[in-house]
Order: sequence, then structure tokens, then C-alpha cells
Amino acid sequence: MSVRPIHLLGSPVLRTRAEDVDGIDDELRELIKDLTDTMYADDGLGLAANQIGVARQVAVVGSENEPPLILINPRIVESDGNEKEEEGCLSLPDLFAEVARPSKIVVETMDMDGNTVRIEADGIKARAIQHEMDHLNAVLFIDHLSPLKRHMLLKKWKKLRKGKEGYLKHLTPAAAER
Ligand code: ZN
Repeated sequence: MSVRPIHLLGSPVLRTRAEDVDGIDDELRELIKDLTDTMYADDGLGLAANQIGVARQVAVVGSENEPPLILINPRIVESDGNEKEEEGCLSLPDLFAEVARPSKIVVETMDMDGNTVRIEADGIKARAIQHEMDHLNAVLFIDHLSPLKRHMLLKKWKKLRKGKEGYLKHLTPAAAER
């Protein structure tokens, strides 16, 4: 198990569009394992590779009773509906806001055998997939907000980060056990 530090708002990699993955290899398997471990260590619903400093098109979305959903070079091919729900992000801890997104999506992604597969999702799963795919495209949930709401959140962020240096959040074993 390898839990990696999480990049917070201000880290350039969060504003770097992730590059497509060519194929499945050991390095990618390790990246997915680390993503999954780090997501669970920080109680996240999902985690994109940029968030642990790797600008590649890979993300994981957690699920209560099944293994995490793995997204590799994901593309949304269909979307329908619109729903506004509260979102947060491991890269912007303690900030929350309502974000409107399509409520149902169909995503094409590569599976661990290198095949393209289609995944249908709705509800919180659809929301988490779209949030993580945003990360891969260098977009954060605050980018979906009105300028006023966004300004308010960034003001709160500055307050929260006051006196803190850098933009890495190191997860301690205690945090991982929480
Ligand atoms: Zn996020």
C-alpha cells in the first residue's frame, strides 16, 4: 500500500491537462493502486491522477460494496438531465458548494485489459465520475460556480491556508485509519 501526498489548490499539476495513457503496464497498475489507497486514506469518493501529481488520464471512483471504478482515458459519450448537489474535493479540503451537472451519463473508458468499455451511471456515481474527469481536464469544481460564490470560497480558502506552506497534504497513518 502506498499512500501519496495530495496536491492542493495552488499546485500547477491541478491546472495541467492530463495526457492519454497508451496502454496497460506495471507502472499504470501501480499508479491505480496508489490512487485507490490514497483515496481511501483520505475518505474520498474519487481521486484523479493529477491530485497525486501525475498528469495522466487515470482516475478512480470509490464504491461502498464493490471495488473502485477505474477510469482510463475516459470520455463522456452521452449525458442527460441536470441535478444540483453539494460537492467537495480532496484538493480543496473544507470547501463545499452546490454544482449543477448532468444526472445521467454514459462513459467510455479503457479497462485493465486495454479494451474500451461503456459504463452507465447516475446519481452520486455520475457526479463523482464527472468531477474526476474534470480534474483530468484541469478543471476544479469551483470553476462551475458563479464568480461571486467562487470568490467567497477562495476567500475562505486563503483564511484556511494562512500560515501553511506549500500545496501538499501529507496523509498520516492516523488519517488513514480514521
Ligand atoms: Zn476533486
